[in-house]
Parts: sequence; C-alpha cells; structure tokens
Amino acid sequence: MLYLPTLDFVSRRLGWVSDGGGKIFFAAFVWLIAFAVIGYRKSNFQCPRCGELFFHKFDDRPWRRDWRHNPFARRCMHCGLPKWAPAPDPH
Ligand SMILES: [Zn+2]
Repeated sequence: MLYLPTLDFVSRRLGWVSDGGGKIFFAAFVWLIAFAVIGYRKSNFQCPRCGELFFHKFDDRPWRRDWRHNPFARRCMHCGLPKWAPAPDPH
C-alpha cells in the first residue's frame, strides 16, 4: 500500500486536506480501481499472433498439471512472439 503516503504528500501540496479530506478518499478509490483494471487487463492480455494468454500457460507435464504465470514474460509463453512486436499482417 505504497500509494497512501504518496497521496498524503500530494494532497498536502495541493491543499486538499483543507476541504475535509473527501477528495483524498476519492483519489485513493480511483487509484485502486485503476490498478485493478490495469492488472486485470494485463494478466488477460492475449497474444496477437497465437491468441493464447500471453502471461499464462498451462503446464501439462504430469507432475505439474498447473497454470504457469509469468507477469514479466518478455515473449509469448506459447509461440515466443516478443512482447511489443506488431500484430502480424492478416493478409
Ligand atoms: Zn503467442
């Protein structure tokens, strides 16, 4: 929860505390939602080439049988497409 001290600092600089502190709770709420949305979208990002989940792969080796998740993967965990490669030309 690193954002609370930051928000407190920012709010003091902007003088938000003087109007009752309502804005700081609103800002914290928006911040939280934004993080949740970004995290959700990122973890569900689909590879533009193979259409599989970029950061997730089901490990079907018999001793694992579990999802592998690498949020810092630099390549698609399925086809190896580099992270920021442009989508292939559909033609
Ligand atoms: Zn892929």
